[in-house]
Amino acid sequence: MERKKLDIGLYGFTGCNGDQLVIVHSEDKLLDFFGAANIKSFSLAKSDNDESALDIAFIEGSIANREQAEHVKHIRERSRMLVAIGSCAVYGGIQSMHVKPSWEERFKKVYGNNKLDVRTPTPSLPVGEVVKVDFSLPGCPIDADQFFYVFGQLLRGQTPAMPDYPVCAECRWKENECLLLKGIFCVGPVTAGGCQAVCPSHNLPCLGCWGPVKEGNADSHIALLKEKGYSLEAIQNRMGMHAGAGIPESVKKLLGA
Ligand code: SF4
Ligand code: SF4
Repeated sequence: MERKKLDIGLYGFTGCNGDQLVIVHSEDKLLDFFGAANIKSFSLAKSDNDESALDIAFIEGSIANREQAEHVKHIRERSRMLVAIGSCAVYGGIQSMHVKPSWEERFKKVYGNNKLDVRTPTPSLPVGEVVKVDFSLPGCPIDADQFFYVFGQLLRGQTPAMPDYPVCAECRWKENECLLLKGIFCVGPVTAGGCQAVCPSHNLPCLGCWGPVKEGNADSHIALLKEKGYSLEAIQNRMGMHAGAGIPESVKKLLGA
């Protein structure tokens, strides 16, 4: 018996649209993608988006003003399942990195006392801090293969299995020479795998954009980095860059967050 096609919506909030672009740029899969479900809304790719009930809503980007919070709540109310895609939606993204001074002080420095009429800005939040999220797919941007795997599993009503190992495991499988051993600052040991270690495979250190790996030992990585002579400031900057709300407690302590 043919399965009923599910109604799907894809929406972009504060971010670079990179996750939706990953989908749009997967030309070889787009026909199947549009054929497998009713794509009711796709903010980057369609103009005839609607407000009907959905089986699954995919949300890209963080929530950075009150109007977006209302919008995502409305999407949640009419969706059976809500999936956060990309590190901005999952963790708040670079725009919620832990830096000083506070958001209020930085905001004032840029906008002064000017009154903004169009939106009511707020600190950037992961979608999960505003509405219930049923499944999260991190990445900056997401990996196309991982997205289409997750999409297929959700269409079949199954829970996708996500990597529970760090980027270092993918480095080993690719037989990369470890950058840390070459004296390059890398946070692969505490970052969730899934990107196929794309940065270290090109001799670039992992910056942690996939967010923290489950059960990663941030304490021991911080101790190792100190032992290797990295300054506290360098460790704070790198470890506070990604993962916004998702950073482990030990890193929060280190950042005084
Ligand atoms: S290069 Fe980075 S990600 Fe790769 S094994 Fe070394 S520490 Fe881990
Ligand atoms: S190696 Fe690290 S910084 Fe690069 S894409 Fe993967 S998780 Fe992101």
